[in-house]
Amino acid sequence: KERTLAMVKPDALSRLGDILETIHAANLIVIKAKMTTLTLSQASDFYMEHQSKPFFSNLVQFMSSGPVVAMELMGDEAIGAWRRLLGPTDSAMARQEAQASVRARFGTDGTQNAGHGSDSVASAAREVEFFFPSTAGH
Ligand code: ATP
Repeated sequence: KERTLAMVKPDALSRLGDILETIHAANLIVIKAKMTTLTLSQASDFYMEHQSKPFFSNLVQFMSSGPVVAMELMGDEAIGAWRRLLGPTDSAMARQEAQASVRARFGTDGTQNAGHGSDSVASAAREVEFFFPSTAGH
């Protein structure tokens, strides 16, 4: 079984129930969950890899504009499975696809796109630790 970090972004918080239903239907389980409002500084840390991008400022403003729900998901190929459920980064592109993804259903545009999913085992480990820090060592 694989683990990943899923986040419901501020624009889709009111659709949390629908998103949980999608997660459940895909045989992924929620093993940790937290609702929190990120500070600008926390949002900047989370998206550190994008700090030189032109959309960075909009992104971190948006991500700290209201509560998010972070979840650690577990399941077979959880990383890829959750990213497939999310769909393309740009919500408008997502709506062009035949399959109705989370971003197609609940996203707004290229930045306000309903959800986040880790893109690798390494980023999943970092992002799970970001939201659910382990106190002790191994
Ligand atoms: P995420 O990492 O949030 O699951 P992703 O991996 O599909 O999405 P990234 O390229 O990692 O997309 O970008 C992180 C986030 O930055 C996106 O989810 C989106 O909110 C925002 N973003 C990415 N590309 C653009 C863009 N071209 N214009 C505006 N915002 C963008």
